[in-house]
Amino acid sequence: MAEEKKLDRREFVKCSCAAGGGLLLATPMGALAADTPKENVKSRGYAAIDTSGKLVPWLFERRPVGDHDILIDIKYASICHSDIHQEKGHWGPQKYPQVPGHEIVGIVAAVGSKVTKFKVGDRAGVGCMVNSSLEKLDQVENQEQYTPGTVFTYGYPEKDSPTGISQGGYATNIVVRDHFAVHIPEHISFQEAAPLLCAGITTYSPLMKARLKKGMKVGVAGIGGLGHMAVKIAVSKGAEVYAFTTSASKVQDILGFGAKEVIVVDDLSKLAAYQGKLDYMISTIPYQYNVAAYVALVKPYGTFCQVGMPERFEVTLNALGLAASRVNFNASLIGGMKETQEVVDYCADHKVLPKIQIIRAEQINAAWESVVNKEARYRYVIDAATF
Ligand code: ZN
Repeated sequence: MAEEKKLDRREFVKCSCAAGGGLLLATPMGALAADTPKENVKSRGYAAIDTSGKLVPWLFERRPVGDHDILIDIKYASICHSDIHQEKGHWGPQKYPQVPGHEIVGIVAAVGSKVTKFKVGDRAGVGCMVNSSLEKLDQVENQEQYTPGTVFTYGYPEKDSPTGISQGGYATNIVVRDHFAVHIPEHISFQEAAPLLCAGITTYSPLMKARLKKGMKVGVAGIGGLGHMAVKIAVSKGAEVYAFTTSASKVQDILGFGAKEVIVVDDLSKLAAYQGKLDYMISTIPYQYNVAAYVALVKPYGTFCQVGMPERFEVTLNALGLAASRVNFNASLIGGMKETQEVVDYCADHKVLPKIQIIRAEQINAAWESVVNKEARYRYVIDAATF
C-alpha cells in the first residue's frame, strides 16, 4: 500500500520553505511539480529510550506528508503529566525510542494535495490525536477519541511511521492528518495556546457537559496543569469554584485564578466541612487517592468526573461511597476535534490562559522531576527552537 502510494505520480505536496527535508521544488505558482517523490520527513527531538524517565536528544524520521496531511514546524510543545506516566511504562510496556508530547503548536510548512483546511503559513495546534485509519472522518466529528482507528500522538502503532509508532511533539516538526489539527487564532500566543491542546480540552469538555451555570458550586481536585485550567474555565463560566490541593504554596495563585475557596488537603479531615456541598466535581489527580472521600463532597445526584489518569489507569472506588448519595461517577478522555477548536477559540477570546514557564530542551528532564514533585507552576512549555 505504501509502495503503491509512493509511485503515484499524480500525488504531490505543496511546500513553501525549507522544512520537511527534500519535499521542496516550489514553482512560481507556489505548488510543486506533480512528480515530486514523497520522502520521509527528518525531525529532531527528545526521546525516552527506556522507563527511566530520562530523555535524550534523538534524530529520527517521520512519515512522508500524504495527501491529507500537513507538516507543522513546531514552535512550542508543553509537558503533560501523561508524558511522564507513559514513558515510564506506568500505563504498560512501551516501544522506544519514543518522543512524547501532545500539546503542540507551530506553523504549517507543507500541505498535502487534498488539504483544504490549512495552507502554508497558518498557525496550527495538535493535541492527543494525529491520524486515523478511516478514509472518511465526517461521521465521527467530535467523537474521534472514542472511534476505532484513531492514532494517538505518541507511542501508538502507525503503519506509515518509519519507527512503527507515532512520535510526539518534543521535536522540531510533526506530520499530522489535517483533521487532527486546529487553528490557533492570532490573538493568543503560541506559548499560551499549547497547553490548551490537552489540559484545556480535557477539562473543558466535561465541564461543558456539566452545563455550568452561574453560581453552580464546582469542585476541582488536584491543581496542576489540568486542574488550574479547570479552575479558570469554570470561573469564566460563572461557577463558584472550590479548589482542593495538597500544596499550601499554591493557595495565592489559585485564588488569583478566581477560585472562591482553596482547601489545602494535608489531611482528609479537611474535607468534612464540604460534604454534600458541591453540584459537580472534577478530579485531575493522576495518582491513586481516596476517591470516596472526594465523591462525598458532591450533592446527591450530582456528578463526579475523573480526568487524571493514575498508574495502570486504576482508581479504587467505594460502592457505599457512591451509593450513599447516588453520585454519578464517570471518567472522561480529552475531547473531540470540534470541541478542541472550540476550547482554543474560547480561551483566546476570553483570555482564559494557562500559567506557564518556558524552558529549553535541555531542561526537560529537570522539568519532569518538578512535575512529579508538584513543583510545576503550572505548565512547562518547551521552546522548540532549542531542540
Ligand atoms: Zn495530556
